[in-house]
Amino acid sequence: VLRDLIGYSRAMYANWIWHRRLQLVVDAGEGLQLALGSHVFGPSWVAITHGHSDHVLGLPGLIAARRFGKGATDKPLTVLHPEGSRGVQGARDFLAGVYPGVAFPVTWMPVAPGASVPIGGGRMRLEAFLVRHTSELALGYRVVESRRRLKREYASRPQAEVEALARSGRRDDMMEPYDHVVFAHSGDAMPVDVHLVKSADLLVHDATFLHEADRREPIHATTGEALQVAAQAGVRALVINHLSIRYDRATALPTLRAQVAGSGFAGECWLLDEDRFVALRS
Ligand SMILES: [Zn+2]
Repeated sequence: VLRDLIGYSRAMYANWIWHRRLQLVVDAGEGLQLALGSHVFGPSWVAITHGHSDHVLGLPGLIAARRFGKGATDKPLTVLHPEGSRGVQGARDFLAGVYPGVAFPVTWMPVAPGASVPIGGGRMRLEAFLVRHTSELALGYRVVESRRRLKREYASRPQAEVEALARSGRRDDMMEPYDHVVFAHSGDAMPVDVHLVKSADLLVHDATFLHEADRREPIHATTGEALQVAAQAGVRALVINHLSIRYDRATALPTLRAQVAGSGFAGECWLLDEDRFVALRS
């Protein structure tokens, strides 16, 4: 899972994650273009979850680096963002003000919950879904791949019989299409709907609080809630994101590892802490 990922998470400072295989960046906190370095031309998609500064201040830097840096300076980039986002509008205004007359190869795509765009040459779709954060519109995103599988009534039959049926020309009606969630990201949010992230290969989930008692307003999930979503959805890997800097890591990590061990979540589990993916299972 980590092979595909570069990320940074420091709540209130900067948050973003890059999924190399999907050519997708979720959020654009400061430092994004610096960390991507020679990979700065990799992303084709940026999906902004909400307009708070720790999620959008890296947009001007990324877009300017792609326009004026050395590389594929005309490669198209599409930025999905919640419609009406003032933070994203501020980044656009900044670019227009500093570089008047410069055309950037960027498509700004305001999206509402339920929006879906084809990616990966049309094999997959990038979908936006509503999450609960502050009063401003906030989105989570998921990447869904259309796959085919053997229908249930055939799955229990002996393999030799299934193969014989397939060879006899029935292959097409023996198969059914289904949606597989390759990647999902909660943005900053309370726990997401489990059915949206069912069996996902990778879930990145907000977990700002180690303890529910530390949460004053219902705008961020706890580590326990993120683990519960991951367990109930049966995701293969969970990346815990956006952990508050109020927690001293030397004491927070043992607490978090104990939560993971007792959570009933059996998949891979990591904490994205600044630029490090910290293993949460010993
Ligand atoms: Zn944030």
